[in-house]
Amino acid sequence: MDKELVIVGGGPAGLSAAIYAARAGLDFIVLERDGFGGGQITSSHEVENYPGAGIRSGFDLGSAFREQAVALGAEIRYGAVSSVRDLGDEKELILDGGETIKAKAVIAATGASPKKLGVPGEKELTGRGVSWCATCDGAFFRGRDTLVIGGGDTAVEDALFLSNLCRSVTVALRRDVFRAARRRVDLLKAKDNVTILYKTNLTEIRGEDRVRSVILSGPEGAAERPVDGVFLAVGVEPASGWLEGLPLTLDGGYVAAGEDCRTGVPGVFAAGDLRKKPLRQVVTAAADGANAVTSVIEYLGRA
Ligand code: NAP
Repeated sequence: MDKELVIVGGGPAGLSAAIYAARAGLDFIVLERDGFGGGQITSSHEVENYPGAGIRSGFDLGSAFREQAVALGAEIRYGAVSSVRDLGDEKELILDGGETIKAKAVIAATGASPKKLGVPGEKELTGRGVSWCATCDGAFFRGRDTLVIGGGDTAVEDALFLSNLCRSVTVALRRDVFRAARRRVDLLKAKDNVTILYKTNLTEIRGEDRVRSVILSGPEGAAERPVDGVFLAVGVEPASGWLEGLPLTLDGGYVAAGEDCRTGVPGVFAAGDLRKKPLRQVVTAAADGANAVTSVIEYLGRA
């Protein structure tokens, strides 16, 4: 299969790129590894900072991006890209399973995925009380005691969501200040069933068949705390492994590219959370998608 453009990743950056590519009449497809699309935002409980979308769930917002792209003619199909080869005027994408797709231009919009903490018990108890997605797994902990680790937007959103379901939510963060938006932190602090532990690290998760307790290490030393669920929200890492065969500049795994999304490899563009940039939000991902397609149009000489 040969295309003018392949967009790899169906989150806000990839779907925004799809909307612009469809409007420009490009011959393109979107490849999405989970087959549905919407990206990381689909697991966010509530999004209130995408202009015009009101206050709605991340799942709704991700679905709306997808519906709009499809309504304009975008073809979104399942496909996990394992590597890419630069053949000069064409790029060859190799998918898991061996299928290959050639394209004149590629927009890399594979975003980022949640980081692991690397503490004892995390791996063993994943799916048995340890989770990275409060909106997916929170309902299992209705009326129970949960712990959220992290002080960023994801941790605060997760804790707000869980506070409406759980008997208690403890939020532990390693510094004495949240990274998350102040308004949401204030909402969290006003919740009766939420306890915030500053300067506190999770050092171990205990339990055999399921999570029973954790060891938290704070200013007063280490202590065991009984909990039923542990939600980890300690940041994300870029999903750039599939690009390793290209001579791109990576910084901590993020692809170096300017606002025009051009990378050091002609014909390869980086958009959204995968791109090295100061602010990773849905609104900046969507802007990247638009800018990337504008650069693709110039690159293809279609302007
Ligand atoms: P993040 O902003 O990178 O925050 C990660 C949090 O985890 C920080 O509090 C960090 O502490 C902590 N952390 C990192 N490594 C740790 C470790 N080893 N042990 C303990 N704590 C650790 O990640 P995020 O909250 O997942 O957000 C990712 C991006 O998505 C951000 O740009 C965020 O703004 C965006 N986002 C936006 C929304 C929204 O706007 N509605 C919702 C969700 C996410 P330090 O602060 O000490 O580094």
